[in-house]
Amino acid sequence: MASHSSQEGKQANIIDGKAIAQTIRSEIAAEVSQLSQKYGKVPGLAVVIVGSRKDSQSYVSMKRKACNEVGIKSFDVDLPEQVSEAELMSKIHELNAIPDVHGILVQLPLPKHINEERILGEISIEKDVDGFHPLNIGKLAMKGREPLFLPCTPKGCLELLSRSGISVKGKRAVVVGRSNIVGLPVSLLLLKADATVTIVHSHTSNAESIIREADIVIAAAGQAMMIKGGWIKPGAAVIDVGTNAVDDPSRKSGYRLVGDVNFDEACKVAGCITPVPGGVGPMTVAMLLKNTLEGAKRAMEQPQ
Ligand code: NDP
Repeated sequence: MASHSSQEGKQANIIDGKAIAQTIRSEIAAEVSQLSQKYGKVPGLAVVIVGSRKDSQSYVSMKRKACNEVGIKSFDVDLPEQVSEAELMSKIHELNAIPDVHGILVQLPLPKHINEERILGEISIEKDVDGFHPLNIGKLAMKGREPLFLPCTPKGCLELLSRSGISVKGKRAVVVGRSNIVGLPVSLLLLKADATVTIVHSHTSNAESIIREADIVIAAAGQAMMIKGGWIKPGAAVIDVGTNAVDDPSRKSGYRLVGDVNFDEACKVAGCITPVPGGVGPMTVAMLLKNTLEGAKRAMEQPQ
């Protein structure tokens, strides 16, 4: 962790998600090569994209490139915008049946005429590397049950904490946001790791005072810089998932990305904090690779 100096001389440690993600990718590459030597096979990830949304295309090409870099075989499935739900579903069934495909990722959002919930529910839970299948989320919620996969961004948040030497057990954690992809699963993960967890959402009346009690804050509201420095308990660990574009005429693009936390203010109070960009974002892709590797190991070590 690097340090960030402030005017008052106090400083939060900056959790370098990019560097941690790079370390994890190297570990994955080493394991992939061991698997290849042992079984003569490498993990495979099917990345399915429907349509030509620019943002989705750039996420998908980033994921495919990340696969190639660590030796995971990427199965590219590019379908046109007008593909029917039935056709997409039969593609998913086809991928479920291919033994060399160990993970299936369907890039969201899907076009409006396709029911996302139905499609995600068709992915075999053994290949659900995004961890969004209700059975995997259900097992995450239940005591004594272990899901086959953890959702990537929440898993990345916990990994950032553990690799930064921050223990969760017995701590007060506040999660801001309760979405199916970030807020809810990260709350469940923190609970499984023995934190005392409070969830703040858009109907919470006294968010500021609740957040101020937290030893660990996970911000995932999608609200640019809503969490002020004064809302943070001195010394707290702050993981900022929020990725919000705000106007910035000084940039060529006309915008810049900021988190849900006012970073400059929070740096003067927090014990450690993730930047945006360069914090949680790189971990999400690293966890996707890790989930694919784990799925492949399960399949290769216990063939049907
Ligand atoms: P959603 O919009 O699905 O959910 C936002 C959540 O925040 C909701 O539960 C909402 O409450 C809550 N919320 C909204 N406004 C407030 C507020 N003022 N106070 C308290 N809670 C509030 O977003 P996602 O979970 O998909 O994403 C959250 C953020 O994380 C986004 O900025 C997104 O871009 C980013 N993200 C980053 C990733 C990464 O890899 N770095 C991956 C995924 C997301 P309610 O339920 O009541 O509506």
